[in-house]
Amino acid sequence: MRAYRSALLYFLPDDSLTYEPDGLLLTQADEHGVQRVRHVGPWSAELAQGFELEHWPGRIIAPGFVDLHIHYPQVDVIGSPAEGLLPWLEKYTFVQESRFADPLHAREVATFFLDEMQRHGVTTALTFCTSHAGSVDALMMQAQARGLRWIAGRCLMDRHAPDGVRDQTERSLLETEQLIDRWHGRGRLGYAITPRFVPSCSDAQLAGAGELAAAHPGVWIQSHVAENRDEIEWVRQLHPKARSYLAVYQQFGLLRPRSIYAHGIHFDDTDRQLMRDSGAAVAVCPTSNLFLGSGFFDVVAADRIGMAYGLASDVGGGTSFSPFHTMMATYYVGREGQGKTGCSISPQALWFAHTAGAARALGLQGVVGNLLPGCEADFVLIDPKATPLLARRVAQAQSLDELLFALIVLGDDRLIERTVHAGALSASAGG
Ligand SMILES: [Zn+2]
Repeated sequence: MRAYRSALLYFLPDDSLTYEPDGLLLTQADEHGVQRVRHVGPWSAELAQGFELEHWPGRIIAPGFVDLHIHYPQVDVIGSPAEGLLPWLEKYTFVQESRFADPLHAREVATFFLDEMQRHGVTTALTFCTSHAGSVDALMMQAQARGLRWIAGRCLMDRHAPDGVRDQTERSLLETEQLIDRWHGRGRLGYAITPRFVPSCSDAQLAGAGELAAAHPGVWIQSHVAENRDEIEWVRQLHPKARSYLAVYQQFGLLRPRSIYAHGIHFDDTDRQLMRDSGAAVAVCPTSNLFLGSGFFDVVAADRIGMAYGLASDVGGGTSFSPFHTMMATYYVGREGQGKTGCSISPQALWFAHTAGAARALGLQGVVGNLLPGCEADFVLIDPKATPLLARRVAQAQSLDELLFALIVLGDDRLIERTVHAGALSASAGG
């Protein structure tokens, strides 16, 4: 049983964000040893009685961030410039991913990756591994040892990829099934069936992935869709009869709840309706889309149709692990009004899309991404005075929106004083 006294940020059942300047968070281990929120609200000495108390004056406790799309093997690709998506894959990404045939390399990168996610306050992420089963084992072993709620999968790519990363259809599906058995539901871990994208998967591989998805409804699906115009044209040539890029995934049974598609930039309203009606969600990856010149996600159209989405870093196409940078870039992308309708996304909506909203997209509402009673106690401790400019700006904030915008615009890993997982308290983030 633990008690935390601090300012608190969390979402009420109607999804509105609430700020408690002097709050109390009580957590208690469940039968699996996972700390869950037992109470959240204003400070009360009476309620805190009998709990082990930590008092963090001047800090803000907020839900841990949920990243809907990231490639852990691309840690060493971040910041590699290219003409666009397809040359970037050829020149940098496939070269780095081929190194994951070596389990020692996979283990070293997995350790670095999880340390970095923790340092940035990300407590759950839907993660691409490579086409080597060992790349999944390396990440899952580390995540399990840390008691994390983490979701990952082995990349399926049996065509249009070089030796070293291209896999073989039958073996790729067999290994996926073995990895589901080995990792899905173990501790807080989950497995994601991971076709890289339509061009890299044969019809047989997509069909096999769809069959596995039907046999394992609790397992996630992750892939990419409608990121870049050259990629879309390639898909059109490969599947000339399909109505759209997204429709190919539908054809193979890969659109359902718990399926998350990165990008979704070049969608029409029929695609958006298909996403909504199938229960799938988009991982919005603005730093990646800006870096690779892919385009601007249309948040107005997504909201108009009611298509679900959440935020993602997409490292290494993305340029930062920081949820603050991703929220800032989402705001820029929303603002863009030349090729679509521009808007000013509210700071509460940005924060929601990277925490409780992203958790909902995963089907994990009430589990992570919030601090209501029953949620797993994955949270961050934010220092709103971490830099001189931020301290100065925050001191003048007149409303919750002004406080949140100051954190989003000026924030980065320096604000994350601690990241606390429902399993264990970590002090490695400098706290
Ligand atoms: Zn990606």
